[in-house]
Amino acid sequence: MRIILLGPPGSGKGTQAQLLVQRYGIVQLSTGEMLRAAVAAGTPVGLKAKEIMASGGLVPDDVVVGIISDRIDQPDARNGFILDGFPRTVPQAEALDGLLKHKHLKLDAVIELRVNESALLNRVETRVAQMRERGEEVRLDDTPEVLTKRLASYRNQTEPLIHYYSERRKLSTIDGMMAIDEVTRAIHRLLLALGAVEPKTRARSAAKAGPAKKAKGTNKGTKKAAKKSAKKPAKVVKKPAKSAKTAKKAARKAVKVAKKATRKMVKKAAKTIAKKAVKKGSKKGPKKVTKKRAKR
Ligand code: AMP
Repeated sequence: MRIILLGPPGSGKGTQAQLLVQRYGIVQLSTGEMLRAAVAAGTPVGLKAKEIMASGGLVPDDVVVGIISDRIDQPDARNGFILDGFPRTVPQAEALDGLLKHKHLKLDAVIELRVNESALLNRVETRVAQMRERGEEVRLDDTPEVLTKRLASYRNQTEPLIHYYSERRKLSTIDGMMAIDEVTRAIHRLLLALGAVEPKTRARSAAKAGPAKKAKGTNKGTKKAAKKSAKKPAKVVKKPAKSAKTAKKAARKAVKVAKKATRKMVKKAAKTIAKKAVKKGSKKGPKKVTKKRAKR
């Protein structure tokens, strides 16, 4: 399954992407994360991106397209991926179309998380406060000033993608203002309707959604839910394989048992026949003799 999550900063793309990763065993490809890693490692890409990111601007298209193209080729992305934060411009979307075509890969869906812009600032402030509480490092671009700039670049450069994918009949929109677990369920229902996930995974996925339910609306809870399910990663994908294996094993065992039982039955039957034959023989013998004797 290959999907794109589209939405402004603070719309919950990252949170939903993490939950989808746990549920479907696919990877999250976040250009923001990759760029932050490049900045931290001081690579040439990182050096190029550092200033731009800190100011809330967009890194040049060719840089992010190159990163994504390489990342899609990695073995762990073969099972499928969620693009989070990419594409962010129409040229990036066109480049993605081209490289997916070249790699013979199909895009299943583009999911837009629609949110109320005035709520975004609050959301990001809450996220930052919670991260500080947990003693986690806060992103340099998570300040109200930079967020305003990031929102402006979303409106000007990324929002046109809604039209781009809607024209190509790829776009689905979900209300991103719902509680986290409700958004997750809506995404799952959508993927089911699109045939991007197997209906069989439904029951298991619903069961897995348990911890996320408890986490209603809070980032903290979601992290806990993600942690919980992280202990049992990619079960939805792995389980069918596991049960197929188990079924094969059970079938082999059943054949063995049946063979053993047949051997036992044959043995028992042979014994019974032999016993009967002996009995018959011993009964018939004297009779014959008696008859013969009587004749004589
Ligand atoms: P994010 O974590 O997705 O909010 O991204 C953080 C920052 O990384 C953005 O504000 C941009 O500066 C940069 N960035 C991430 N993805 C892209 C992209 N697809 N195109 C350009 N810049 C990006």
